[in-house]
Amino acid sequence: AKDSGKNAFRLFNKKMTQNASDRVSLQTDLRLALDRGELFLHYQPKVDLDSGRVTAVEALLRWNHPKLGLVAPDRFIPLAEESGIITGVTDWVLRSATRQARHWQEVDHQPIRVAVNLSPVHFKRQDVERTVVSALEETGLDPHLLEIEITESSLMQNNEYTREALAQLRRAGITVSIDDFGTGYSSLSYLHRYPIDILKIDRTFVWNMTKSEEDRAIVAAIIAMAESLKLQVVAEGVETLEQLELLRQEGCHAVQGYLISRPVVAEEVEKFFTGKVELAAG
Ligand code: C2E
Ligand code: CA
Ligand code: CA
Ligand code: CA
Repeated sequence: AKDSGKNAFRLFNKKMTQNASDRVSLQTDLRLALDRGELFLHYQPKVDLDSGRVTAVEALLRWNHPKLGLVAPDRFIPLAEESGIITGVTDWVLRSATRQARHWQEVDHQPIRVAVNLSPVHFKRQDVERTVVSALEETGLDPHLLEIEITESSLMQNNEYTREALAQLRRAGITVSIDDFGTGYSSLSYLHRYPIDILKIDRTFVWNMTKSEEDRAIVAAIIAMAESLKLQVVAEGVETLEQLELLRQEGCHAVQGYLISRPVVAEEVEKFFTGKVELAAG
């Protein structure tokens, strides 16, 4: 037993060192990835449930690593945040996404709003509204066609600054969404004080609402509260028609998820822009 304990320790230790050096080398690679053109965007449609039309898409970052292949954002975004590389990454995402939306608007005559995820670290550094507005100025996109998604937890940190930054973005005409809503334990009574437009219900609630009465009740409560605050509600991670039907019954405004489409390259997502998306049950 003593021996196996020792081995387990050695194994654990080795794994830890490996992970640490993996992280460092991934971080080094990430610094180069921007210049080498290894980053690209996928887009996932958001469908309005009343009209059946795609009104917006979410830009989701992808990294095609020369040796590892596709690296998931859940793996490299935290590294980018720790090392400060996130600043350059966000600049790149904002510019690419707004340039793409401007192309859809001007060339294809499809005024599709594009949503960009902003990491919580941007709300610690007090310059986020400049970053966003300068991307808009550079690409010439109508601010009404830009949405930013921030998580519920970043809303709760650095309260004063965050509120002021969001207010400025909204005054500029940009749409503000709260991502992963329901997971951040924010006091609901606080919500009306924040300048926001949309709540995105976290996908864990969407997954559980067909199985658990409690989760369905939470979803219903979020939608009712949003309604009274005049906010829109988008459900993320919708994978089944059963989930869609329940969300529709509860009065959810828009949905996003594999049921409609996985995140795909720009040319693929464009196919959803004309006509209605088939959402009929059965
Ligand atoms: P998120 O913002 O909550 O994005 C939604 C995630 O759910 C995406 O994962 C998307 O591909 C996935 N998803 C969408 N529909 C479904 C579905 O029906 N079922 C399931 N199982 N998953 C679905 P992805 O693209 O791997 O991104 C993961 C996270 O990485 C994002 O979560 C976001 O927090 C972060 N991220 C992605 N792109 C960016 C970016 O440009 N900047 C920042 N700061 N973070 C990003
Ligand atoms: Ca998001
Ligand atoms: Ca989310
Ligand atoms: Ca998330």
